[in-house]
Amino acid sequence: MTARSDLRELPSILLGWFDRNARVLPWRGPIGMKRDPYRVWLAEIMLQQTTVPHAAPYFEAFTRRWPSVNDLAAAPDGDVMRAWAGLGYYARARNLLKCARQVAARGGFPETSAGLRELPGIGPYTAGAIAAIAFDEPSAAVDGNVDRVFARLMALKGEWAQEKKQIAAAVAAIVPARRPGDFAEALMDLGATICTPAAPNCLLCPLTEFCAARTEGNPERYPIKPAKPAKPVRFGHAWVHLREGKVWLVRRPPEGLLGGMLALPTGVWQEGALPEAQPPMRADWQASGEVRHVFTHFSLRLSVWQAGVSRAPAGEGVWADLAQESGLPTVFAKALAQATGGTIRPR
Ligand code: SF4
Repeated sequence: MTARSDLRELPSILLGWFDRNARVLPWRGPIGMKRDPYRVWLAEIMLQQTTVPHAAPYFEAFTRRWPSVNDLAAAPDGDVMRAWAGLGYYARARNLLKCARQVAARGGFPETSAGLRELPGIGPYTAGAIAAIAFDEPSAAVDGNVDRVFARLMALKGEWAQEKKQIAAAVAAIVPARRPGDFAEALMDLGATICTPAAPNCLLCPLTEFCAARTEGNPERYPIKPAKPAKPVRFGHAWVHLREGKVWLVRRPPEGLLGGMLALPTGVWQEGALPEAQPPMRADWQASGEVRHVFTHFSLRLSVWQAGVSRAPAGEGVWADLAQESGLPTVFAKALAQATGGTIRPR
């Protein structure tokens, strides 16, 4: 049997499935209720590069502490960066604040995807998703999940960059004028729960009749993407200065990787081989093993050192209480846990 190539009836079938199977998520209200653009925006920013289970507690903490975009706009930078610690991709947190302040200054979110795209940190997918979910604009929101679902539905075999354009056009052609936000969320839910990357559950899928990949019998082979080059490995040292139950932390420069976040002092991170160990001050440094962390463009192997010290090293920094939430990005929280026998864990 061949799959139906005419996708015009797909939205009504998908929405029927969504009405029975929508996930309950902290940023969603009951189906059909008007949605708060602040909560939609915050969830979409947190979900960029982050899974739902990891993002959900952060979303709840943020909305408890800053219930509106005006509250967030008025928050000190350090409080927001600290609350974001452990969520990764810290440029998002800096843009989040910039965006909140612009929205507060203009008296609310723009109500179109074109207007939303003018704001910091909002790209085409996020703009489409917010416009559809919060403002009922019939715009297409195509993320990795939707790409995967449509690559399978259409059994696309060509060059991936071209296929993405074809997918965007196919989705845009069928976004319904009624319930465009539910349609966007239904596609997200289908990609997250049924048409998953490694094991699509075609038996439970409401779209089987449209799916060319299923008809072929091997949907996992889609989407066909070029092989990724191996990530380079960088090496460095992290220095854990301990004094009376406290650890010495520094603030990273505002721009760049982990910009503006609290950190352990480290030297350069060098590709290919471990740089020479150059501690920030003389002390009885003890090697505490190595931690590994994967960033978007490289993997990092940090050699961790710890020493008890009687004073702070030169330069700006703070003594942070070891017994409290560190507010550190995951890579440094892992290094600190390694040096202190696991008294602090990454969030
Ligand atoms: S039938 Fe299978 S491969 Fe096709 S969209 Fe549904 S879950 Fe994905």
